[in-house]
Amino acid sequence: MTAPIPLGNFDWEPPSWRRYPAAQQPEWPDPAALEHAVDELRRMPPLVFAGEARSLSSSLARVSEGKGFLLHAGDCAESFAEFSADNIRDKLKVILQMSVVLTYSTGVPTTKIGRIAGQFAKPRSSPTEKRDGVELPSFFGDTINDFAFDPVARRPDPERMLRGYHQAASTLNLLRAFTKGGFADLNRVHQWNLEFIASAREARRYEELADGIERALRFMAACGIDLEAEVQLHEVDFYTSHEALLLGYEEALTRRDSLTGDWYDCSAHLLWVGERTRQLDGAHVEFLSGVHNPVGVKLGPNTTVEEAVALCRRLDPGREPGRLVLVTRMGADKVADALPPLLRAVKRAGHPVVWACDPMHGNTFAHESGYKTRHFDAVMHEVEQFFDACHALDIWPGGVHVELTGDDVTECLGGGDDLVPVLSGDVVDASLGLGRHW
Ligand code: PEP
Repeated sequence: MTAPIPLGNFDWEPPSWRRYPAAQQPEWPDPAALEHAVDELRRMPPLVFAGEARSLSSSLARVSEGKGFLLHAGDCAESFAEFSADNIRDKLKVILQMSVVLTYSTGVPTTKIGRIAGQFAKPRSSPTEKRDGVELPSFFGDTINDFAFDPVARRPDPERMLRGYHQAASTLNLLRAFTKGGFADLNRVHQWNLEFIASAREARRYEELADGIERALRFMAACGIDLEAEVQLHEVDFYTSHEALLLGYEEALTRRDSLTGDWYDCSAHLLWVGERTRQLDGAHVEFLSGVHNPVGVKLGPNTTVEEAVALCRRLDPGREPGRLVLVTRMGADKVADALPPLLRAVKRAGHPVVWACDPMHGNTFAHESGYKTRHFDAVMHEVEQFFDACHALDIWPGGVHVELTGDDVTECLGGGDDLVPVLSGDVVDASLGLGRHW
């Protein structure tokens, strides 16, 4: 039997969070409908198995020791309208391409976690939105309400959580098939990278790296390693994650593991609390304190040293490698001042966390079209500063947490193709589109 992770919260149960203030929860207008949907979710099979979450913990433990690198990437938010096999495939393809580049250049294995198969609900800066004097609930993501600015569409509907569950189940099904069924074959991913390099001027700087991978494959074959027979070259481990925002949904999918007796949130392998819901005395931190999945916490530029250490103590009382990922999202202009004190304090407190850099959420701004975006230079600057700060304190920069999609969208401006803001609200040229992103 696997040894249980020593969490400190012994009287914890899945509904314990209900005793704490819960930020960012929708006001469900029909309590009976909510109860019905949550009951239905409780009867549904778990989406992931506790043993898989433990494998991710082991993989993250290696990252925390400097023997691995974390690539945590995917959608800002998944949607019902854009749900398709092609969409899932294209997102996975980009993540796999990035992971090969990272593995080759860091020389350590890349742990791959998608913001996928459950990343629907989003925190909002205001619970309501006003347009031309009309005030309606904000759009909180497809598992809560609809994007259309209309009183019926914006009404929170708990049945949407069930639709989200089924979409997550189908997404996971395809991900498992792709990652274990030949799609993730290293040779194939390498070919995609070669096509990418041939397609864009900016991509040519990866040419040398691709040549290196080519030579490494030839070298292994020349040494007599049968590349066809090596399972590791044809299959990958890929994990799912989302922000654990909608606590009724998370509670309903939390199950006791039959092997260890521990509670796992079986909606995804890793769950995280966002910058707006990480209050120490809040419901989200209480919820994550009791599940045995690896968990993440977003830390913005106003995080104090005391808060960071208290969050570690609360979520990782056993100082367990692989339990906690601290995702910093400071903003390019703040990271150099805000990050080092947190790195230093957590190191001193002895928590073996994975430090990951989210260079997206601290650099977001709204351009005139009303869409939110960020500038590529700011994104790159934050990543560089993150690495510098970690190196200066002899801390392993464990990974990156990025929003990406397989579609052509202006999630970022600038960059290799010098993307510009879209003012009319539509497409600027054939290769660019707008991400639904907030
Ligand atoms: C997110 O990652 O989707 C998000 C909203 O991030 P943050 O909590 O860091 O703002």
